[in-house]
This record gives sequence, C-alpha cells and structure tokens, in this order.
Amino acid sequence: MRICQLFTDAVDFFYPTHCISCHSIVSSKDVFCLYCATKCKATDHFKIQNNETKARTLLRVDVRWSAALFTYVKHGHVQKAIHMIKYGGRKDIAIKWGKLFGENYLSAVGRELADVIIPIPVHYKRRRKRGYNQSEVFAKGISLITGIKIINNLLVKQSNQITLTQQSRESRFLQVRESFALSKKNSLQGKIVLLVDDVLTTGATIEAAVEKLNGSGCKEIDLGFIALAKN
Ligand SMILES: [Zn+2]
Repeated sequence: MRICQLFTDAVDFFYPTHCISCHSIVSSKDVFCLYCATKCKATDHFKIQNNETKARTLLRVDVRWSAALFTYVKHGHVQKAIHMIKYGGRKDIAIKWGKLFGENYLSAVGRELADVIIPIPVHYKRRRKRGYNQSEVFAKGISLITGIKIINNLLVKQSNQITLTQQSRESRFLQVRESFALSKKNSLQGKIVLLVDDVLTTGATIEAAVEKLNGSGCKEIDLGFIALAKN
C-alpha cells in the first residue's frame, strides 16, 4: 500500500494532471479540482427507482431500471469532461466514471445484476477516427467493478449520422430508428442487458437501440449513462 502511494505521488510529481474545467493542478486520480468537483452534482438515481432518467426513458421505452451518474448542463463541468472523453483522448475519465457507475449499480440492483453490458455503438468510421467508442470505455469501467461481460459486436451502427443536427426532428428520428442492426438474433435469449451510453438527451437513440434489443429475445433491459442532459 505504501509503495503504491509512493508511486502515485511520484507520478503526480513528474506528470501532474490538470482539472478538466479550470486547469489547476490536481492529483492523477482526480478529474476535477476540489472546487469544480463540488459543482458536479451526482444524481440520486441509484437510491430512487422512479428517478428523472427513468421518467425520461419511460416516455419512449419500457425498461427495468435506469440511472445517470451526473446531471449535464450546457457549458457545465460535466459537459467539458464528456467533451474531453469524446474528443480529447481522455479514456481514463470514462474508465473512472464507469467504475463509479459500477459501484453504484451493485448497491442499487443487488443480486439482480445484468448478465451482459452492451455499449451504444458508433459507426465504424467514427470509431476509427477517434480511436475508440466512449460508451465502450465507460462499459469497461463498469465491467471492471461488476465482472459483467461486455458484448461489443451484437448491436451495430449502420449509418454515419454526421449531418444529423441539420435535419428536421421527424427525419432525424426516422434516421436514428433505422441506424441500428443486430448482428445475430436470439443470442440474448432470457438475459438481462445493461445498455450504456455517455449522455441521455431526448432518448431517441436509446429508443431505437432498445427496440432492436427487444428483437434479440432478451428478458429485461437496464439503462446506464454518464450524464442526463437537462432539457
Ligand atoms: Zn477546477
């Protein structure tokens, strides 16, 4: 333990990291400085079944359980961190938050853990450009704590939706709906799936993915997010 601590101290000395939000120097294990951390309010979703994330997803799909770690406000600290996860190569943050999610998930659902974790896929071209899919990395953190295995190649993204924001709400929805496919049918027969993504906004993506998974024979679906975007 002491050797570990000495090693961590040495890493912090030679490779200090910076708070994602205000850039002050922090320990290598922290995402935010103490001040910014107080501004990232964790949700109460792991303690309350009928929480805000569940309410939003229930408008679209019927799932067993749903939670997000944080609430996401525009230009807020969590948004900055998620931006760094997606575009700044900060996989370490997604792993850290995945582990935090995993700990909370264990205490929230008890013995009724999911059998598999499925991250929302990104199109292979986007994955190749970024080098990774942020939801897969978040899933990895959850798996490290819970021991639940991840299935990456079952739910696949078919089309590249780079221009999605420029389209009407209706055509956007139709495009999202058709954007997922199952590589194998019935391979989740009787299983509980934990479907994970970085941010829950309208829920259109989740609805499309859940619809596909429902066709796979799975028993129930839980949903997990890093953050819930405020409307
Ligand atoms: Zn800070």
